[in-house]
Order: sequence, then C-alpha cells, then structure tokens
Amino acid sequence: MSADTTGLIDELRRALGDDAVLTGGDIGDRTRSDASQTGRHLPKAVLRPATVDAVATALRVCNAHRQSVVPQGGLTGLAGGASPQAGDFALSLERLTGIEEIDEAAQTMTVKAGTPLEVAQKAAEAAGFLLAIDLGARGSCQIGGNLSTNAGGIRVIRHGVTRDNVLGLEVALADGTVLTMLNKMVKNNTGYDLRQLFIGAEGTLGIITRAVLRLKPLPEGRATALLALASYDDVVRLLKRAQRELGGLSAFEAMWRSYFSVTAKAENIPLFAEEPDFAVIIETEGADQAAPLEAFLEGALTDGLINDALIAQSEKERRAFWIVREGLVMDRLPSIVNLDVSLAIGDLGRFAEACDAALKARFAEAYVSFYGHIGDSNMHIAVSVAGASEADLHEIDEIVYRIVAQYHGSISAEHGIGTLKRDYLGYSRKPEELDVMRRIKTALDPNGILNPGKVLPV
Ligand SMILES: Cc1cc2nc3c(=O)[nH]c(=O)nc-3n(C[C@H](O)[C@H](O)[C@H](O)COP(=O)(O)OP(=O)(O)OC[C@H]3O[C@@H](n4cnc5c(N)ncnc54)[C@H](O)[C@@H]3O)c2cc1C
Repeated sequence: MSADTTGLIDELRRALGDDAVLTGGDIGDRTRSDASQTGRHLPKAVLRPATVDAVATALRVCNAHRQSVVPQGGLTGLAGGASPQAGDFALSLERLTGIEEIDEAAQTMTVKAGTPLEVAQKAAEAAGFLLAIDLGARGSCQIGGNLSTNAGGIRVIRHGVTRDNVLGLEVALADGTVLTMLNKMVKNNTGYDLRQLFIGAEGTLGIITRAVLRLKPLPEGRATALLALASYDDVVRLLKRAQRELGGLSAFEAMWRSYFSVTAKAENIPLFAEEPDFAVIIETEGADQAAPLEAFLEGALTDGLINDALIAQSEKERRAFWIVREGLVMDRLPSIVNLDVSLAIGDLGRFAEACDAALKARFAEAYVSFYGHIGDSNMHIAVSVAGASEADLHEIDEIVYRIVAQYHGSISAEHGIGTLKRDYLGYSRKPEELDVMRRIKTALDPNGILNPGKVLPV
C-alpha cells in the first residue's frame, strides 16, 4: 500500500467525482468499526460509488496503486469484518441502493447491494411476497452485507440461510472486472457455481454490487407459543415432533434457564409461574395456524414432553416472547463475550454442560448462558466475567472453541470470521482446506487489496 495517497485520491476524485471520495474531517466516526465495536482505525478515505461502474472503477484504480479496500455495508456485523485495518480505504455501498425489479412470474427481486434489508422486505411485501431473509438488524444491515456474511437469522429452519435465497449475483473483482451473473432460474448446472464463492466471503474475494433474491408467497398468518421443558433431550424430541407434525414450522428457538431468567427479569416480562430448565419458542406460518398449533401442544402436554405452554394471543404478547429471546439486555453485563457456534443438534446439551464446567473452572464467578436457533444447530453463548482483561477474553474464546473442535463443530454458525475469529479458524477447518482458500484468494485478488487481514489466518 502506498503511504502517500494524495495522487491516488486525486485520481479517484477525477474518476468518481468529489462527492464520492471523503477524506479528513469528512469521514464519520462510525466507519471505524462494525457492531462488534472492536475497530480501532478510521479509514484513510471513504469511497462512496453510486453505480456498479463506479464500484468497478474505484477497485481498478485502488488495485493499480496496491491500495487496500474494506467493503462497508450497514456495519452491523459482529466479527470485525467491516472494520478498517490501518491504512485501508473504506468502500461504502450506502449510495448503491434501490430495487430494480420484482419479477412476479419468476418470484424474484433484483436489488442493489446497498439496499437496507428492511426496505427490500417491505417492497416484497407490498408486491404480495415474502423475502425470507430476516434478522434483528434488519433496519440497518444491507443486502450486500447479508450476502457477504451469509447471514442466518430467525427463519432459517423453514427458508434456509441467505445463500439458499439467492439465485443471481453481480460482483466487482479486485481488478475492476464485473461478473454479471443475474440469473433468475432455479436450475442452472453450467460449470462452477461462482455465485456461491462470493456469498459468505466477507468481502475478501470481490464486492457484491447486485443480487437476484428468491421471493416466496406471503404467509397469511402465524402462531407463536412459548413452552416450558425439563431437559435438553426433551427439546430435541419436541423439535423432531414439531418438524413432523407442524407443516408451517418457521422458528424453533431454545433458551437455557441461565439465559431467559436474566433477560425476562431485566425486561420485566413475567413468563411461567415456576421457572423451567428450558424454554422454547415455536412459531408457525401460514393460514389458520392457531388450531393446529394448539392441538400439537395438547398432545405434547399429554405425553409429558412439555410442562407448560403459553400461546401468544396478540402481537404484543408475541413480541414479548421474542424480546426475551433477543436478550438485548445482555449487552449491559460487564465484559460480555458473545459466541456463535454450531454443533450437531444432539450434541448441544452435553456441549453446553462441558462449556459451563470449563469456563467456571477457570473463572469461578463467570456468568455463562446458552440460547439460540437450536432448530438450525446454532447456539449462542453469552459469557460475562467482571473485570476481565483482554487476555481473559481471549482465554474464554479458546476454552469454548477447543470444546467446539472436540465435537467437530463450527466456531462460527452465522456471524462469520472477520478478524475476531480469524486466528481460531483452524479449530474448524483443516490445513488443506485453508490452503485451498488461500489459493482462491490469490487467484482472484493477487495484490491482496480486498479486505486484507480478514477471514484467513495470517
Ligand atoms: C441486533 C443485531 C442482530 C443480529 N442478528 C443476526 C442474526 O440473527 N443472524 C446473523 O447472521 N447475523 C446477525 N447479526 C449480524 C449482522 O447483522 C449480519 O452479519 C449482517 O448480515 C451484516 O450486514 P451489514 O450490511 O451490516 O454488513 P457489514 O457489517 O457492513 O459487513 C459485514 C461483512 O461483509 C462485507 N461486506 C459488506 N457489504 C459488502 C458488499 N456489498 N460486498 C462485499 N462485501 C461486503 C464487509 O467487508 C464485512 O466483512 C446481528 C447484528 C445485530 C447488531
């Protein structure tokens, strides 16, 4: 990377226009970090291209100058992927927005990468469709960020992760070449599926500029229940039964008592008279879901699979269940570490016990809690150790990821690797796999300008 960037910035201003290149005091502080709040450096410049051609031009010029570039979407990522390293330029997608087309016959939406997820969801809804990608950060995160992190969220059990909802993609490569693969077909076996290479690559292989997303018929209603269970084995049995008997199952979220007792109390939302060891939220979507859900719960109660059940009678009650599950109050705990891992569903109960024991053996006063998208084999772990040092926080990661590796799980279910998990990638991927990843990176970005220092261990 060139140390004096004056000539480069002049060239970018000439090529993109003055308003597309911010420097000095014009650079907003929010470009320093994604939502992990671990970013330490402001970008040296912020590029704000408003067209696909301008993205390509920005990359071509930066590549010629060996200038590193960090793509920035809505900055809601939790892995440090969009946070600049020292000397990076940020390439913000905030001006590349808009829905280009909703094709009712193909049931697709063609959308620019900088469009906020919620804007795309509302446009789909207005046209009578469901855009099934959904997560808590919907108001701020962008389609390009969702694709680059292969975001998960709360509807995965029914609609899949982000990559399952993408039919076509357009990407600008490091040298400014644009791959326009805006395919609308479900079937297309014509060689390597390049689209999937860029989804989940966290901006290290190319910049996503447009996408063709799959749309589904808009569900006519939904029903939600909060259930009390006595053991993790019962949670697994309930999941199997729900998948067999509830055709519209769209969410299956479990919370260990250590989690929901804290979040419910902090939010002042009373749940069960007696706190169970596990609470599960079940949601189904489709027309007339209330009666089948009620019948299902009656059967589960009779068979002793669940001990209690609350069915949401209003949107307010439904929201209350989800507020307890989203647990935003967790961020108020001291030195909170949020981990996002994935293991075979049947192993998650024993894994939680092993983590709890190992963390408390090292940090006797630790608060440790478990919750997550259990129907997708995805568990979140919240650990708080008052007064923890930087080294302690790393040790917490190490302890958990070592146990994940023993269970052959994944150290990142949905948040990605970024910088925060980069040095632990070897716990989940073999040296030969990392070697292939490095070869792909070198082939597509030989000068290493795209989001250097992210994903791949140095
Ligand atoms: C309250 C809250 C709830 C969340 N819930 C979930 C959840 O349920 N499931 C989940 O998976 N995540 C969740 N997240 C994490 C986050 O919202 C997702 O990772 C989201 O997909 C990031 O999108 P973004 O636009 O903010 O991307 P950013 O944070 O800006 O960037 C994320 C990564 O993608 C790269 N990038 C961004 N745009 C592009 C582009 N156009 N081309 C190439 N690379 C690009 C960046 O360089 C970075 O590496 C949550 C976050 C918050 C704050």
